[in-house]
Amino acid sequence: MSVNVYGSGDPVRLFVAGLHGDEWKDTSDILYNLKTPIHGTLITIPVVNSGEYVSTLDESYYKNKGKIIIDTVIKYQPSIYVELHSYSGENIVYLTDKNRLKKTGVPAYSKLDNNVLLGSVAPYIRRNYFSKKALCLSFEIKKSDEKSKQFAAKMADIVKECNSRDDFILFLKQKYPEQAEKAIENYKKFYGL
Ligand SMILES: [Zn+2]
Repeated sequence: MSVNVYGSGDPVRLFVAGLHGDEWKDTSDILYNLKTPIHGTLITIPVVNSGEYVSTLDESYYKNKGKIIIDTVIKYQPSIYVELHSYSGENIVYLTDKNRLKKTGVPAYSKLDNNVLLGSVAPYIRRNYFSKKALCLSFEIKKSDEKSKQFAAKMADIVKECNSRDDFILFLKQKYPEQAEKAIENYKKFYGL
């Protein structure tokens, strides 16, 4: 597993993929192909762990298999953090379930285009390692779906040029107003402001 650093200075963004199981197959390439951002720093970890699947909602994930993420966050203090995950088609109903918060303790994902889903990251890492002003996003890509992967690559490219949380919110409000509203509402409900 390698940690790559592109560019320098603020803002610092950390993008991670291949977090567990075989998700690297649908996500890691996206990070290998990202170019140095115009402003600031981009750090990537294209393959965090390709071993046994442990959910990021399980706190032990970031203490064991995903420890490299925490170490990198502590070292570089990113203000923008992105996780790229992939899901099997049949699981979309659970990921976008309106009652997901009640059922799993985390808000539902919003659907963007090409079956790419947008959500936040696990409460454990969000609450313990990032300031409230940080932008923490998780994209879920549909497994073995080239269009889904290409669209997620486009989103990664946009986020890596964002300089702040507000930059991204502005983009989302313009392009996906409904999803933006939902994401902001979820965020406020979950983390306060
Ligand atoms: Zn995942």
